[in-house]
Amino acid sequence: MKSTNPIYTGLPTTIFEVMSRMAKENGAINLGQGFPDVDGPEDIRRFAAEEIVNGKNQYPPMMGVPELRKAVAASNKRFYGLDVDWETEVLVTSGATEAISDCLAALVEPGDEVVLIEPLYDCYLPLVRRAGATPRLVRVTPPDWRLDAQALAAAFSDRTKAVLLNNPMNPAAKVFDADELALIAELVVGHDAIAICDEVYEHILFDGRKHVPLMTLPGMRERTVRIGSAGKTFSLTGWKVGYVTAAPWLLDPITKAHQFTTFTTPPGLQKAVAYGLAKDDTYYASLAGDLEAKRDRFAEGLAGIGFSVVPCAGTYFITADMRSVGVEDDDVTACRRLTMEAGVTAVPVSAFYQSDAPTHFVRFCFSKRDAVLDAALDRLARWVERKNGGAG
Ligand code: PMP
Ligand code: GLN
Repeated sequence: MKSTNPIYTGLPTTIFEVMSRMAKENGAINLGQGFPDVDGPEDIRRFAAEEIVNGKNQYPPMMGVPELRKAVAASNKRFYGLDVDWETEVLVTSGATEAISDCLAALVEPGDEVVLIEPLYDCYLPLVRRAGATPRLVRVTPPDWRLDAQALAAAFSDRTKAVLLNNPMNPAAKVFDADELALIAELVVGHDAIAICDEVYEHILFDGRKHVPLMTLPGMRERTVRIGSAGKTFSLTGWKVGYVTAAPWLLDPITKAHQFTTFTTPPGLQKAVAYGLAKDDTYYASLAGDLEAKRDRFAEGLAGIGFSVVPCAGTYFITADMRSVGVEDDDVTACRRLTMEAGVTAVPVSAFYQSDAPTHFVRFCFSKRDAVLDAALDRLARWVERKNGGAG
């Protein structure tokens, strides 16, 4: 038999699927894979239901229904002051994942280099490689997730075609600050490169922070692709509705990749997301505010048990150091133990690094009902007590 493509052949199943399966098999509370346990706004879901029953269900326009493309353009103006032409600068995709895949397929060529900052969302590396490009990795590590300016500069070369930036960053819960963004922009402009910005957590920032798209920095409007997701913004991760904003010279080839990847996204869901994006400021404030309260509840609970918890500025993930509760195993083993012994599932942070990863940190997802977070904390407290009581 001839061999199948080596990039995908033998690749392990994504850590999110693995941990969700492990949680299910063991009856554990699943704080691993990132998804809210309460669906997003009922009016948005009813809007979609109405569209599916009484609206159109055949192929919508390839670039997305005008209602959603206009709503994405309007959101860019409303939240970031960006003037965007909905007809030539907005594309709807089946989730942010498809958008990332389309961007890499369309913008990058064999021989190019793509700069990425570890920890990496799971699809980035395989997709960069499948596009034929060479990944150039820079890392931030817990507990401070500090970006080293020199290391970042050293990752750029005259072969750099693009940087792929996730901000706010999963799993680090890091929000890149003004200096970091300015540095990235300067390097991108200086190397005549493109920025592909995965901003799916754009509306989930805490402590009064406001999201600053890299696209808004000087010189970046024409060379940045900005990706959002209704999955995160409306707590509807199963819908897989994403959107891309980019200047026409970038969006045109991205659109050509999209037309041969999924071609379209369910029209009823698109219309419902368009309706959702127009929600008033109270919706967006309560999305971030509710999650901030959950962050505080869960972080304080973890700290009370003895976990050392890494600061969380955005996203719905929080990282803890397992050594703080006396677990010296590597994070993969620690996550298995947490699931089987404590009955709470987390995700090992090492899964987000290519190699030589930090090995004692685990990620918990806190976009869950308070009762679920409390039950998880209770299980963790009893486990730590049993474990440490047994040892002492
Ligand atoms: N990027 C990041 C950083 C994510 O955490 C996720 C997970 N939801 C995605 C992309 C994928 O988004 P979607 O479900 O819209 O494909
Ligand atoms: N983004 C989610 C996470 O980080 C998972 C999405 C997925 O399972 N593909 O957990």
